[in-house]
Formats: sequence, structure tokens, C-alpha cells
Amino acid sequence: MTEIIVNSESRVFRDSLLKNHGAERLMLCYQCGSCTNDCPVARRIQEFRPRNIARLAMYGQKERLFSKDLLWLCAGCYTCYERCPQQVHVSEIISALRQAAFLEGKIHVTIKNIVSSLPLHGYIMEIGEFENELRQDDGLPPAPEPSLSEISTIMTRTGILARVGGG
Ligand code: SF4
Ligand code: SF4
Repeated sequence: MTEIIVNSESRVFRDSLLKNHGAERLMLCYQCGSCTNDCPVARRIQEFRPRNIARLAMYGQKERLFSKDLLWLCAGCYTCYERCPQQVHVSEIISALRQAAFLEGKIHVTIKNIVSSLPLHGYIMEIGEFENELRQDDGLPPAPEPSLSEISTIMTRTGILARVGGG
């Protein structure tokens, strides 16, 4: 197992994480592993261990948490939260870690592509004739026409577009 080094930087990062909604109980984790046992992603991907993510977060190991794509694999199903005897909200902690990674421009390519699609199409993918026909088959009206200029303005002013390399 790789050595964990705790220094002032890691403490600052950990403390900033604790301020996020849902991450307040991180330090109550006693590493029982119940979250990992029932996590649907952990069952399929050996490297994805919510318990380990919680542990690394407790020690503020930002570089290790950001170094792989693991954070982006969480399905946000909240099973870990339901199973945790300490009500540690690992899924919310992962969301907070994703936000921190996003602010540093460390964005998974899939998310980058999805976000980049918004100012172009108004949706996370292009909705064309084919997609609208599928909607019609399900008795749905065509997808509403999005306001691309409004979406672009919001994404520019919030700095999101720049972070995904679009502005
Ligand atoms: S279930 Fe809760 S206490 Fe147990 S390892 Fe996961 S987060 Fe920690
Ligand atoms: S929310 Fe994420 S970490 Fe928690 S059980 Fe679901 S996939 Fe696993």
C-alpha cells in the first residue's frame, strides 16, 4: 500500500471538503467497508472502492484522488449512504471531490464532451430528426427548441465553458 503523507496542504484540502453539503460526516468513517460491499460499481471495477475514497479524502490526499478516473465512475446511486452505519455520505463526498477536480480543470473526457455539447445543441447530445421520431414513437412531442444564446451566456458567466476549453 502506498504511504499516506499528511501535511498542511492535505489538511487544508480535507477541511475544504468538509465544508461541502453532505461531506460534513467524513471524519466519522471508521473504515468498516459496508459502502464498498454493496456499491454496484465496486462489484464490477476492482479499483473502485468507496471505502478507499473516503480514507484518502480523510487524509486530504488530493493528488491520489485526482490522479485516476475513479471519481467519475460513481453512479450516484446513494447505496453507500444507505449502508453506512455512520451516515457518511460517500456519494456526496465524491460529488465534492469532482467539483474540486473540475475547478482545477481535471475533468474526465466524457464529462468534457457532454458539457461542451450544451452550448452547441442545448442538450448533452444533438437532438435531430431521428431522436424526435423515437420520441414520437413513445407518444412524446418533439424536444423543445433550446435557447443556445442563453445557455452560452450562463456557461460563459459561470466560467464553465472556459474550464472545458470552449471559451
Ligand atoms: S460504510 Fe461508512 S463508515 Fe463504513 S467505510 Fe464506508 S463510509 Fe466508512
Ligand atoms: S453512490 Fe457511487 S460510491 Fe456510492 S454506492 Fe453508488 S456508485 Fe458506489
